[in-house]
Amino acid sequence: TMQAQWNAVDDYFCQQLVPQDAALEAALADSAAAGLPAINVAPNQGKFLNLLARIHGARRILEIGTLGGYSTIWLARALPENGRLVTLEYETRHVEVAAANLARAGVAGKVDIIQGAAADSLQRLIDDGAAPFDLVFIDADKPNNPVYLELALRLSRPGTVIVGDNVVRTGEVANPANPDPAIVGTRRFIELMGGHPRLSATAIQTVGGKGYDGFALAIVEG
Ligand code: SAM
Repeated sequence: TMQAQWNAVDDYFCQQLVPQDAALEAALADSAAAGLPAINVAPNQGKFLNLLARIHGARRILEIGTLGGYSTIWLARALPENGRLVTLEYETRHVEVAAANLARAGVAGKVDIIQGAAADSLQRLIDDGAAPFDLVFIDADKPNNPVYLELALRLSRPGTVIVGDNVVRTGEVANPANPDPAIVGTRRFIELMGGHPRLSATAIQTVGGKGYDGFALAIVEG
C-alpha cells in the first residue's frame, strides 16, 4: 500500500538523518505509557521544525499545543542559551507528562508551559505585553486555528514565522462541503492567511509515517 511505502521512506530518512536520541525516545515512550494520543510530529518533522527555527535564528518561540512536549523539545533545542519557548496546553495530564519530558531532555529551564485554553493564554500574553515571538508553531485544536492565527499576529513582529500543522487532513481541506469543524477551521485558517495584509503564506502537502497531511508556512510582513 501507499502507507507502507511512506513508512519505509520515513524510516529510511530517520535512520540516515535523525540520530537516535534517548530523551526524545523516552518522551514518546512515557507519553504513550501515560495514555497520551500519538499525535506528536514525526521525528523527521520535529527535526524540520528545529532546522527552521535555527535557519531563522529564533530566540523566542511560541507553541500552541504541547501534548507530551515532543515537538517542544525539538524547538527548544534550536534556541540559543538565553532563548525562551512558551508552550500552551489545556490538559493537566499532558502538562505533567510534558514537564517531566522537558526536564529529562534538559530544556525545562528555557520553556514556560502555560496551562489553560490556548485562546485565554494568548490573550493574557497580549494583555501582559509579552515581547513578540520570532516563530509560532500552531498545533492544537484545529477548529480554533483562525482564532490562534489572529491572536498570534498580535504577538508577532515583521519577520515572525508562523507554522500551522495538519492543514491537509487526507485532502479534505479542498472539500468545501465537509462540515467537520476541524476542516472548516483549517479552511478558514488558510483563507485568513491568504487574505491577510500582514501575511505572506504558502502550504505544502506531505506524506509519511503520519499519513497524508501537510503544513502551512507564513511570514509576517508588517
Ligand atoms: N505539538 C505536539 C507535538 O507535536 O508533540 C502535539 C500537539 S497535539 C496535536 C494537540 C494538543 O493541543 C493536545 O495536547 C491537546 O490537549 C491540546 N489542546 C486541545 N485543545 C486545546 C486548547 N483549547 N487549548 C490548549 N491546548 C489544547
